[in-house]
Amino acid sequence: MTDSPASNFSPNYYTARDRFCSRAAELGWQTDSYSVMEDLSIDVAISASLPSRPTILVSSGLHGGEGFFGAAVQLALMDSGSLATDLNWVFIHALNPYGFAHLRRCNEDNIDLNRNFLLPGEEYRGSSPIYGKISTVLNPERLGSIDWFVPQMLGAIAKYKLANIWQAVAEGQYDFPQGLFFGGQAASKTQQILQEHLPQWMGESQNILHLDFHTGLGKWGTYQLLMDTVVTPAELQNLQAYFGAEYILAVDGGKKKYQVRGNIGQWTRQLLQPRNYNYFCAEFGTYSFAKVLMMLRQENYVHNWLAATDPVYLRTKEQMKEIFCPESEQWRSRVIAQSVEIVAQADRAVRDRPN
Ligand SMILES: [Zn+2]
Repeated sequence: MTDSPASNFSPNYYTARDRFCSRAAELGWQTDSYSVMEDLSIDVAISASLPSRPTILVSSGLHGGEGFFGAAVQLALMDSGSLATDLNWVFIHALNPYGFAHLRRCNEDNIDLNRNFLLPGEEYRGSSPIYGKISTVLNPERLGSIDWFVPQMLGAIAKYKLANIWQAVAEGQYDFPQGLFFGGQAASKTQQILQEHLPQWMGESQNILHLDFHTGLGKWGTYQLLMDTVVTPAELQNLQAYFGAEYILAVDGGKKKYQVRGNIGQWTRQLLQPRNYNYFCAEFGTYSFAKVLMMLRQENYVHNWLAATDPVYLRTKEQMKEIFCPESEQWRSRVIAQSVEIVAQADRAVRDRPN
């Protein structure tokens, strides 16, 4: 057992990966490593393959810089001693190892992986006309001593309305390869690895609940469960009973602010058909939306246009970590406790439905 919830947080990707793999091995779980590039890998730990039992899938780091938190959740769970032995547990560490190691949301090709999972037949093309209009504001090639972002955004909001801008930006775009929320122009390496191996990691299990851990959206130290996938009313009602209706943001529930193209949940649901699969993006709040967006913009700017030794580059990376994984002990303890509780709810939810 570790001393405090905060001790589950690792200072970098490599330490997080080592701790993940050794803890899984100590528990006797099967571990496998899938290279994405050089010394960066997606690591998978599987507790068991009980064919007639449900599976809880816990993934981290789809958005690289958010992996500090997701990996800490996985470690806390493995350390908790409370994971039921009559369920299958599949933990995927660092779906975007490059972004985790380099403090980026995106992967090595500037792909926002949660926009890259287009369904078969969907094209890696297109963007909202509003995105095109504000692209140079979002993705500047030069930032002088005065940053005009706020007045420029206020101008854009007056013209297009905030909700439309948010939809245009967050839904994903496929036309600006150096821009924010770029979904890519082909299936990413991460998608290829999942396509090839995920069904086999799930074994014969027919009843799967997937929790993908994220940070950066929402109020400080609170969470929302974003469904992103279209489910039947009966499925939604059932999930609400276990996870609390007030925490779930369903696509059709009228509460969700924007629709995302190419999110992982919808794609995985299709890949694993006809199994019973539900997905939540468990999203934990840190700083304000404006601060987070400005940080993403700043990080994208320094990544594209400054040398890695530039003091502004280095300072930006440090700030990036704070924005997506605050140092605050209070935040860290709270989000870990909440995550462990969500997983306990998942345990009850899968247990009560037909295998
Ligand atoms: Zn995220």
